Amino acid sequence: MALAFDEYGRPFIILREQEKKSRLQGLDAQKANIAAGKSVARILRTSLGPKGMDKMLQSPDGDVTITNDGATILELMDVDNQIAKLMVELSRSQDYDIGDGTTGVVVLAGSLLEQAEKLLERGIHPIRIAEGYEMASRIAVDHLESISTKYEFSATDIEPLVQTCMTTLSSKIVSRCKRALAEIAVKAVLAVADLERKDVNLDLIKVEGKVGGKLEDTELVQGIIVDKDMSHPQMPKRIEDAHIAILTCPFEPPKPKTKHKVDIDTVEKFQTLRGQEQKYFDDMVQKCKDVGATLELELIAIATGGRIVPRFQELTTEKLGKAGLVREKSFGTTKDRMLYIEKCANSKAVTIFIRGGNKMMIEETKRSIHDALCVARNLIINNSIVYGGGSAEISCSIAVDAAADRHPGVEQYAIRAFADALDAIPLALAENSGLPPIDTLTVVKSQHVKENNSRCGIDCNDVGTNDMKEQNVFETLIGKQQQILLATQVVKMILKIDDVITPSEY
Ligand code: ADP
Repeated sequence: MALAFDEYGRPFIILREQEKKSRLQGLDAQKANIAAGKSVARILRTSLGPKGMDKMLQSPDGDVTITNDGATILELMDVDNQIAKLMVELSRSQDYDIGDGTTGVVVLAGSLLEQAEKLLERGIHPIRIAEGYEMASRIAVDHLESISTKYEFSATDIEPLVQTCMTTLSSKIVSRCKRALAEIAVKAVLAVADLERKDVNLDLIKVEGKVGGKLEDTELVQGIIVDKDMSHPQMPKRIEDAHIAILTCPFEPPKPKTKHKVDIDTVEKFQTLRGQEQKYFDDMVQKCKDVGATLELELIAIATGGRIVPRFQELTTEKLGKAGLVREKSFGTTKDRMLYIEKCANSKAVTIFIRGGNKMMIEETKRSIHDALCVARNLIINNSIVYGGGSAEISCSIAVDAAADRHPGVEQYAIRAFADALDAIPLALAENSGLPPIDTLTVVKSQHVKENNSRCGIDCNDVGTNDMKEQNVFETLIGKQQQILLATQVVKMILKIDDVITPSEY
């Protein structure tokens, strides 16, 4: 305790706050952690699948985002529970590695936690559960491999790739234009792909958006677009064979820094100063002309094969980027203009230029296109696929359940629980589509067993068949395997925590 005085001399007492710690141990810790993880998964559950709901999130400064992308929802949600943060991280890793399946992975983890809770209540040790889950995940991953098929496509026959991207886009707000957007995504990926080496550098695809126009106006530009216009009205609006200086320094005479002061007391002095400034500028322009630049821009990606010049003095001819065509394009009646830099020296770089009614729509389209780009890339890297609509999960669930019988130890309970947890995906898909979840799952599951058909899933869109091959609903094998592995990893990590020590708030 200490006595202090404020600025008016009034005394007040400072109570020294004790760094009290709250602590949860053993089963209580596990249960609290499981509850936290489950609550995050519950939020995403309703967003899963083609009929999934969107979430509206408002940031502290009022920006509104509408999305159904799992990774984005979690990213924008303000969670301060450590376990909830792990779930956010989980979705992020799926997004980073695969780009798709970010909602599914969290729903699966939530369901694994739910099943683990039941086992804990039955007195099974968390380590046994973790081990059982690990075995089950390996069985599921191997099983996925066995039911996967090769997806054939080539640079000339891109239709299969387009179909797959359409599946990804069908659950998004942009599904109205899924065909056009899927084609754009596939063409963009093929433009930067090396099919021989099975390599795709997504960094070469720039996704740019501008408010205005319709979603249908979204286009693929073989080059780079910059949200700038020609800086002077007298400049030509179209330059062929452009030589581009890429500067990161300001293209203007140096300004006096705030610390310095220039006193001007006569007209002559002012004119000398102005003249000097003018000359400086003229020199800069002359320098650009000397090295042969026909266009100057502050910052452009290296698509044109140019070198970024940080200091104006270092500008030389070799450092200029080259583009076959630079043109300014204006949109509608507004004064909005963009610069198109096409036929670049490094012709691989492309831009997807998204149009849409408002910023939220454009941002969501960007995220959806990102997912589609990732799916196409994943297929080029590895063209194995499994069928979607929950069919792969149902098939794995059956396989894992059967494998449980072969394990004599306590793990078999955990393995069985894992099989039940996999059902969460088809259950959520059915529920979100307004179908009775348990009835639908039972029918589909029996179809799997009776007809030995691993392609049956949930007919979310009421097409009339639940054969996902006929519905063209696929997911990449690596994506699905990654979902199972990542979800298992996180759940194991959560189960192994038996002591939670947090500084308590006073
Ligand atoms: P994620 O972020 O996990 O990709 P989505 O909301 O995109 O989540 O939903 C993906 C799930 O929806 C996958 O299980 C996929 O197989 C399924 N799905 C997508 N389209 C369809 C469809 N037309 N019919 C049935 N299931 C679908």
